[in-house]
Amino acid sequence: MSRLQTPMLSLAHGLRFEQLYQREGLCALDARFLAWLEAGSAPLAQALRAARECPDALDPAAEAALLIELSPWLDEFVGELFDIADAVRALTARHNALAPLYECKRQFVQRQAATKVKPEALAGFDPVAAEHALVEWFGEPFSELTFARAVASWQNERTMADRLAVALHYAAWALTIPAGRARHLHGVLFKTPHRTDPLHLVPVETDTTAGYNAFTLGAEHQRHREGFALTDPGTDLVGALDQAHYCIWCHHQGKDSCSKGLKEKLKGDPAEQAALPAAAHYKKSPFKVTLAGCPLEERISEFHEVKAQGHAIGALALIAIDNPMVPATGHRICNDCMKACIYQKTEPVNIPESETRTLKDVLELPWGFEIYSLLTRWNPLDLRRPVPKTPSGRRVLVVGLGPAGFTLAHHLMNDGHVVAGIDGLKIEPLPSELSGVDGHGRRVPFRPIRDVQDLYESLDERVMAGFGGVAEYGITVRWNKNFLKIIRLVLERRTEFAMFGGVRFGGTLTADDAFAMGFDHIALAAGAGRPTVLDMPNGLARGVRTASDFLMGLQLTGAAKPDSIANMQVRLPVVVIGGGLTAVDTATESLAYYPVQVEKFLV
Ligand code: SF4
Repeated sequence: MSRLQTPMLSLAHGLRFEQLYQREGLCALDARFLAWLEAGSAPLAQALRAARECPDALDPAAEAALLIELSPWLDEFVGELFDIADAVRALTARHNALAPLYECKRQFVQRQAATKVKPEALAGFDPVAAEHALVEWFGEPFSELTFARAVASWQNERTMADRLAVALHYAAWALTIPAGRARHLHGVLFKTPHRTDPLHLVPVETDTTAGYNAFTLGAEHQRHREGFALTDPGTDLVGALDQAHYCIWCHHQGKDSCSKGLKEKLKGDPAEQAALPAAAHYKKSPFKVTLAGCPLEERISEFHEVKAQGHAIGALALIAIDNPMVPATGHRICNDCMKACIYQKTEPVNIPESETRTLKDVLELPWGFEIYSLLTRWNPLDLRRPVPKTPSGRRVLVVGLGPAGFTLAHHLMNDGHVVAGIDGLKIEPLPSELSGVDGHGRRVPFRPIRDVQDLYESLDERVMAGFGGVAEYGITVRWNKNFLKIIRLVLERRTEFAMFGGVRFGGTLTADDAFAMGFDHIALAAGAGRPTVLDMPNGLARGVRTASDFLMGLQLTGAAKPDSIANMQVRLPVVVIGGGLTAVDTATESLAYYPVQVEKFLV
């Protein structure tokens, strides 16, 4: 197979790196994929071609089945394209190696240990002796995976009944006895889904000894916080697969409410039902929140099935059909999907965690950033738009480069339009060898990124880059803001895109100016940064601040950095009024900021 060399990346199928960022190159790539698929499975290639010709002719179940069948092929093709077939296979093998954990959890722990071992049977149980015996039989140190593998093999042998009995009692102890639960607190095997109580979602303990209610979280749930580094790295592959296996892949029954919403059973005249407002078609949560599911209708059930089969790239491609800007969603960002999960009485599938881990599994492959980036422009699983459409000749001005603005910009480009994005904040330039744009706004060659870690910075040292709107200045270090750089590069490297910081729409640039400059459309995607002034007596008195203003000030001024001389003073105690996300962020950030501020004063 011919390989044309770029300085660092050698692509298969006679393709060059630059072609991955040009429409003609993407069309060539798609043609190579179809020919390659034809050679491997002619019926599947024909099914894909037919589905692309007339995507709406497929019913949802047939479409899902086709995309799932294509996913392993996509893994293999991308592995070959980037010359990382071994790494892709190794990643699949890591998925498959963990499979016994989830099988053991469902069949042995949840169906047997949880139901067949009565509490009295554990009265004289010695977990230390049991663990010693198990380790001896395993022939290796104790881990949940070795436990699961051993149980799987013992279940196939009649002579192992004694060992299975010890394992069963150990599992029941780990599942039900506080010491056992503590021993396996951070594992996944010895767990059963707990019932949810909407009024006690956070398991706080109430202390009334001081004459008022003080709520505390058990020590096992507490995490030490110091400074402004990332506070929650999210789950690993074990945790993500635990969720993918907990999911029951409801798309097979057309009941994937996480994606399509939890439908209300309406009665009466169908015409009258059709006239009802959209929200009336969905059930409501106990807090009267409409359970409409993922606003993007991401194929959650399908990606979970593919992820559980070990095909990480296929799973990401399924996500990216409806949610190409996936770094800006998922863990610590949104959970509408989770709220509408079919599990309404027990804990829902933690989709945000599995989604973000699926992204990271691909990003962490060699050339992982380039693979994700490519899937935003060429996605063979997207039957309706596998490559960007032919140029329309239309130019669109997108006002605001927050989540709405950058997502819109992406879709507009893939629909064939040229986009200029403006934002009121100053946007710091990235190195031109990464972005493909020099300090004068000229297009220059950029290099492929082999290791995504090269893009990452520690959040407590990172300089605000100005791109990302509320995702940059409104979200705290609970979310990995390095994902903003990933999204920015995906957009900025495209010749159909230009962006300009420090431009206020209505001031620096008016609508008339924009139309006079030749824009055909203006898309307003600004607004989240509008100041909120509460109608409250003394709302602006000294020492009183709106929480959103505090958080924005903290992020924008860089006050949290040890070498910043930002004028932001906090004195304890701080009283936070409210219990929503902004209030919680304000409480955590003011507590984290106070010692940093004092240290800066003392130095
Ligand atoms: S996440 Fe929940 S609703 Fe969605 S497919 Fe899985 S189990 Fe079903």
